[in-house]
Amino acid sequence: MSKEATGKIIVIVAPSGTGKSTLIKRLKDDFPILLESVSYTTRSIREGETNGKSYFFVSKDDFLEMKSKDEFLEWALVHGNYYGTSKSFVSQKLEEGEFILFDLDVQGTDSFKDYFGDKANVIFIAPPSVEVLEQRLRGRGTESEESLQVRLTNARNELKRQDDFDFKIINDDLERAYKDLKNIVTRILG
Ligand code: ADP
Ligand code: 5GP
Repeated sequence: MSKEATGKIIVIVAPSGTGKSTLIKRLKDDFPILLESVSYTTRSIREGETNGKSYFFVSKDDFLEMKSKDEFLEWALVHGNYYGTSKSFVSQKLEEGEFILFDLDVQGTDSFKDYFGDKANVIFIAPPSVEVLEQRLRGRGTESEESLQVRLTNARNELKRQDDFDFKIINDDLERAYKDLKNIVTRILG
């Protein structure tokens, strides 16, 4: 894949439950130019999600076959499910000069930084605290107790990396956090 392609990459990384989807939804409304990469995942579809829009929901066998054919730019096992970014989608869109928005976990973000370097603009979004994160995850009502505990354990680990990326936002007050995000994205898109 050519790293000289003219497109731009924005990666948003945040522990599950921080408010990343909420913020990304607003960002897409305000910046229709941003193209969201649709990842592949083996997790089950949630109410309100659409196959091919939120993710491509695939079986573990299909995912592993794609992985063995080297079809992923990066992949990771997150909260017990596989997630991966399609190589062909990203290379084609970057060559076309698109601004692509990625929603990745920390492992995927590290792979992107290794591959794209400064071309990948990474924004870490942190919750005000793990306690607030837990309240948000419980309030969302989408996770089993087991899945919630896995997400909280992973969150504690991901938060250790919060100062390692290009930008950081704390999602305490949603309006302020969104304003910060909008300012950062405006700067990146230049
Ligand atoms: P993520 O995509 O990071 O897992 P969501 O966007 O689904 O998180 O947000 C988790 C829950 O927290 C949702 O119910 C959402 O409405 C709520 N939420 C998001 N941001 C805030 C905020 N700043 N204050 C209070 N609740 C929030
Ligand atoms: P969720 O199941 O809540 O939608 O996402 C769980 C986690 O997987 C989030 O941290 C999200 O950023 C991450 N994720 C989603 N798609 C990908 C992907 O393609 N690659 C990687 N590495 N992580 C992803």
